[in-house]
Amino acid sequence: MKRIALLSQRLANQIAAGEVVERPASVVKELLENSVDAGAARIDVEVEQGGSKLIRIRDDGQGINKEDLALALSRHATSKIADLDDLENIASLGFRGEALASISSVSRLLLASRSADASGTGGWQVEAAGQEMTPTLAPAAHPQGTTVEVRDLFFNTPARKKFLRTENTEFGRIDEVVKRLALSRFELAFSLRHNQRTVHQLQAAQSMQEKQRRIGLVCGPAFLEHAVYIDIEASGLRLWGWVCLPTFSRSQPDLQYFYVNGRVIRDKLVSHAVKQAYRDVLFHGRHPAFVLYLELQPALVDVNVHPTKHEVRFRDQRLVHDFLFRSLHKALADVRPADHMEPAVAATGAGTATQPHTESPVQQVPLGLRLDESTGELVAPPDIPAGAGPGATHGWGAGVPGSASADRGGWRTGASPVAGLAEQSALYQRLSEDAEVPPLGYALAQLHGVYILAQNQHGLIVVDMHAAHERITYEHMKAASDNQSIKAQPLLVPISIAVSQAEAECAEAQADELAALGFDMARVAGESVIVRQVPSILARADIEQLVRDVLADVREHGRSERISAYRDELLSTMACHGSVRANRQLSIAEMNALLRDMERTERSGQCNHGRPTWVYQSMADLDKLFLRGQ
Ligand code: ADP
Ligand code: MG
Repeated sequence: MKRIALLSQRLANQIAAGEVVERPASVVKELLENSVDAGAARIDVEVEQGGSKLIRIRDDGQGINKEDLALALSRHATSKIADLDDLENIASLGFRGEALASISSVSRLLLASRSADASGTGGWQVEAAGQEMTPTLAPAAHPQGTTVEVRDLFFNTPARKKFLRTENTEFGRIDEVVKRLALSRFELAFSLRHNQRTVHQLQAAQSMQEKQRRIGLVCGPAFLEHAVYIDIEASGLRLWGWVCLPTFSRSQPDLQYFYVNGRVIRDKLVSHAVKQAYRDVLFHGRHPAFVLYLELQPALVDVNVHPTKHEVRFRDQRLVHDFLFRSLHKALADVRPADHMEPAVAATGAGTATQPHTESPVQQVPLGLRLDESTGELVAPPDIPAGAGPGATHGWGAGVPGSASADRGGWRTGASPVAGLAEQSALYQRLSEDAEVPPLGYALAQLHGVYILAQNQHGLIVVDMHAAHERITYEHMKAASDNQSIKAQPLLVPISIAVSQAEAECAEAQADELAALGFDMARVAGESVIVRQVPSILARADIEQLVRDVLADVREHGRSERISAYRDELLSTMACHGSVRANRQLSIAEMNALLRDMERTERSGQCNHGRPTWVYQSMADLDKLFLRGQ
């Protein structure tokens, strides 16, 4: 039998370092956070060999008193909290008092500082090198602020060192850490150098324009071009920042920055809410891009749930989830063509800002979607034959009972797909006279039965008419079905489903929630539920799988979007079949009607699969193509 013994201070720190100091980037993160907490206005980071040889971080913050220097290196020594109340209202990034101790136990560390209230001219420094903590104090020439130098990381823990990747990979992670922090503190200036080469040089950003400039530098110019700025406040929560339109999606979730009270986090609840919000507009398997800031009372969020503080716990998870989902969902739905053109086009100078739109209520259901009263299901109209070519004499919804096409004068066919001379001159007249040309302009012609060409005051717009019509139809269908409460349908033979204990408990506890979704479900044993009734729209789905998924959702997030997700999927398929096919000839009036519909319709910038429905080339873009004026 081995005897029990207390760990030495040094070994305890090295063990703690395992959690906090995983790689050079984690050192940079901790040191940067300290500089931010010290109220620095500028932070300079210098790195050699991917950080394993040297990491030096210098700030102009409040500094550390001579008397406190040695203490700063010991474990559980912090100036940031003193009692439990502080822990529940943390305003600083750090508070655990273990970063410097951990780092110094696995590297050669030098801490030099001069505090704001120090007398004399110079500063002081301490050194430690993976030793028992007996650092010696020495005078140092240092301006106000602090410098931390970390050399030979993991020199005394070779096993750890083996886990490091190539210099470039490690530096890439450091770069990412610096970028993340730079996006959370616009008012701070940052610089980053690697092997004597400047990688970033970011000026302090105050104005909106300067902030966007920083966003562009950190996330790339394409991000900014496709982003809309949002700022939403409700129930004590505020969400602001930049979200990219779904048409600017990524193959990796690499442009996703989310901050809670200025702290960057990766959180399951947050990712879930964001994913839900983009569900209906994102191309399959793609990831959205965003830089978002959530602000709430510090007491409503627990940041002390993880040593690296990457995760948080919200007091009211459901409230936060709902708020995030709703805000983003609305922001994405509200984007209209006008928001994404030259500022001059949009009346409010948007380009990178959404405004609350005066909601025009969704018009009619153009495709004559019917709601079958007996089943509660939506019935799609018969498919419009593909290639109903020139001379087709029906409108969008022709032949469908209840179609509204008849009273929409614009939606007739049979006219020439290219504006005739008279129409053209009338168009120019309109463009020059009309103070308010609609954002998508007026149709000029149809290209190969697939694209609509249109012009506004500033350039050319090309619309994929099938994609656009598909989205419009889909949104109309959703609106029509939203107005109906969820219809439920009893199962002929109730299904009994084996579930986990926790899921069965959830079915019992959340019976109301589930009933509102259209389920009649009861717990019949410790690990079994019986399902007697399901939402009609799901009648043909794999009930067992859906029930499991719904229970899992309700358990984790207090609600489930599965029913509406499933409904949307169904509607989307119907919309696709019901929408105007390529190779159908449209009249100018029809094309204009479609353009106006796009401007009115939520999410009309992407088709149901997340592909763009229209593109825009300004005159300047076109001039560039032809090298005009160069
Ligand atoms: P924590 O940040 O959790 O308090 P650290 O080990 O990171 O723990 O730092 C210990 C203490 O050293 C901090 O509480 C702070 O008082 C001081 N300190 C560390 N870095 C700096 C800095 N750059 N400027 C001023 N004080 C610092
Ligand atoms: Mg710290």
